[in-house]
Amino acid sequence: TDNNNNNQWTQQDFKDLAATTFDNKCIKYNHEQIDLNDPSNTIVIQLGHSSMKIGFALDETPIVIPNCIAIPNNKSFSNDHDDKEEKWFDTNSSQFIDLKSQLYQSFKERMRYYKRRIQPNSHEQVKSFNSKVTPEVVSLQKDPAHIPWITDSNDNDNEKYLYGDEAILASEPWFIHRRPFTSGGAFNVLSGQYTSLQELLGDITNLLNYALKKLFKRYREQQIKKKQDQDQDHEEFDEQQKQSKEKGLNDPIMKDMDFKSSRFKAILVIPDLFQKSHVEALIRLLITELPFQAVAIIQESLANCYGAGLGTSTCVVNIGASSTNVVCVDEGSVVENSVIKLNYGGDDITKLFSVLLKQNNFPYHDWDPSTLPGWHLAETLKKNLVTFQDDGVAVQLTNFLKRMPNEPIEKYEFKIFDEVMLAPLALFYPEIFKLLKDQNKGSEKSQKIVKRWKLQLPDSQDFFTDDSNDLKSISQEETLHDSNLMDNETPDAYTDIHNENLLLKRLLDVNDKLDEISATANDDIMLNMIPLDKAIIQSITNASLTMDPSKMPTYYSNILVVGGSSNIEAFDFMLTDRINIWRPRLLSLNTFPTFYESLVKKVKEQEKKFNSEKPKSSSIATTENDNETENTDDNKDANNNSGAPENNSENGEDTTSSLKSDIDNLITTELQKFVGGFDKAANNNDHYSTVTVIPPPREMDPASLCWKGGSVLAQVKLIEELYITYSDWDMHGSRILQYKCIFPY
Ligand code: ADP
Repeated sequence: TDNNNNNQWTQQDFKDLAATTFDNKCIKYNHEQIDLNDPSNTIVIQLGHSSMKIGFALDETPIVIPNCIAIPNNKSFSNDHDDKEEKWFDTNSSQFIDLKSQLYQSFKERMRYYKRRIQPNSHEQVKSFNSKVTPEVVSLQKDPAHIPWITDSNDNDNEKYLYGDEAILASEPWFIHRRPFTSGGAFNVLSGQYTSLQELLGDITNLLNYALKKLFKRYREQQIKKKQDQDQDHEEFDEQQKQSKEKGLNDPIMKDMDFKSSRFKAILVIPDLFQKSHVEALIRLLITELPFQAVAIIQESLANCYGAGLGTSTCVVNIGASSTNVVCVDEGSVVENSVIKLNYGGDDITKLFSVLLKQNNFPYHDWDPSTLPGWHLAETLKKNLVTFQDDGVAVQLTNFLKRMPNEPIEKYEFKIFDEVMLAPLALFYPEIFKLLKDQNKGSEKSQKIVKRWKLQLPDSQDFFTDDSNDLKSISQEETLHDSNLMDNETPDAYTDIHNENLLLKRLLDVNDKLDEISATANDDIMLNMIPLDKAIIQSITNASLTMDPSKMPTYYSNILVVGGSSNIEAFDFMLTDRINIWRPRLLSLNTFPTFYESLVKKVKEQEKKFNSEKPKSSSIATTENDNETENTDDNKDANNNSGAPENNSENGEDTTSSLKSDIDNLITTELQKFVGGFDKAANNNDHYSTVTVIPPPREMDPASLCWKGGSVLAQVKLIEELYITYSDWDMHGSRILQYKCIFPY
């Protein structure tokens, strides 16, 4: 084309191609062999907890469809509300008050640090104003964003299920809701909303069909608009319209038949810490139930890097609705041992925000954020008000419209103060989120539900050992351990080990620990609730030390924040500060990687020397040493457990402990040498590697960046090697994934 002088395809070229090939392939029911290198008939799908992002690979942006199904509630529904109320934690309990004051303390320190004044009577001002507010009725015409709630009074078909954006307008008590995906796109098996896998997959199929229809509708509308723009001559346009109408091209929503009988390719963006059984069920569904002839998969964090155009070692922090993922990506692949999936996200911020508002005499008294309309209000308020910008926190007067189904619209004024920062600040103090979570999680009942589900959807197993062969991450295991820490246990989070000597020993042990981690089979029940800043440090440390220590400073200077909740104002600023506060000095020093690598070498040399001097007991010494080191670090006081019956001989024990103490001495001396210089030159920031948080590209919605990454993948040559076709799946089943993934499956 004219504007293309270096033979590179522009977005417009791809679009033009799409316009032609798409029409040919789809409208004429063409079943010929699919071209695996043609991005035009590729649909990219990312399934999150709250919504899916779906679009043609050549589209600029995806459409966002809420992952929700509304079912007419034909039962009597008098008790529904009471059940929901019970799930909310008592916010007057001392536990809640303590955690809230911890948040407030942190907020106050931050304000003081940035020299922002907090007026002493702010809270009283807010409370007393709010208690006197009376609402004002607003006419429908004056509502800038009217919500057309669906209730049974305006929908007589009481058998019809509603999907996506229609479902989130279908209010209780006339409808009940199901959500097929839980945090990070895994199947929602724990909530008890589904009794069978069939039912759940049925919902997903219908939801995807609904989404595809909307996508096709948008496509047609774009085509029509394009034609309108292009055609200067109106008469000609009218003539074309007539012709295309005859061909059935102009139908705004293509008939079901049209797209079902057509064939597309799909790129499915899957979670980083995915469960194989879930991914395989999804692929099967896409290939056999939907109009897809081939499917390729990509992990979310890698997709985010593609979407952001980042090729260097990156730490991706993805804050979604119900989960937050911290993952390091290096040389085009997700570093498995860096993956951390935290069980909190934007939904928890919304919940906490609404609790805090209510505690300050929020003027809408019977507001129930656990209902759909109530939640809608909570989300709107949160998106408009929460911030990490310290100059945005002062007593402010604002307002909202109460829009409840079958009720007049009312406008309320209200005042707000520190709630705007306290709620999102809890990402760094998530204990308080845990309190507000459904208290049933982890209970006996949910364990039973998990057991029942495992019968229908068994974990993927290793062919030889029968062990679960799902992904394992040492960072996930450690942070999960810390989230459920007993009083007498030592923490695994590097940020919680304050003795540098002990920390260094832990760091030296990382690679020995790798063989021991178990597939996290009980992952469904345990919650990972460690603070976000600590999780990031854990992830980067493990990514570096298990692969290449020298990459540590690069990860710290490439922390990419994505996901809907990263939209919070000044998020990057806050996160940078938090990481700087929590990162242990040792891990902050520029020269740490070099020191670490040389120390590893020295320890190995010491072991080798020791073993060669004592050839007879060498094998015992090495194996014993591994166990012994582990013991020491897990429980420092219990290292001289000499009564253990399996100890081979007194001699073996002596040699082991002598080697161990030699190594301990070596570590202590080397550490002193290393940090000694820095102690003297304190405050010299040049010694520390910089922390840089990168917001997503400005023109992109941070929640759609990984969808964008999928669309980038669709357009690279490599993609043809990654597609699993219907015949591949038919012939080999899930085994084919081992050969068709850009990561080890
Ligand atoms: P998922 O993929 O898990 O569905 P997303 O990445 O789409 O999640 O993010 C959805 C979350 O982002 C929701 O909790 C939503 O409230 C939150 N969110 C979206 N926009 C904003 C905003 N401007 N401020 C704060 N949170 C936001």
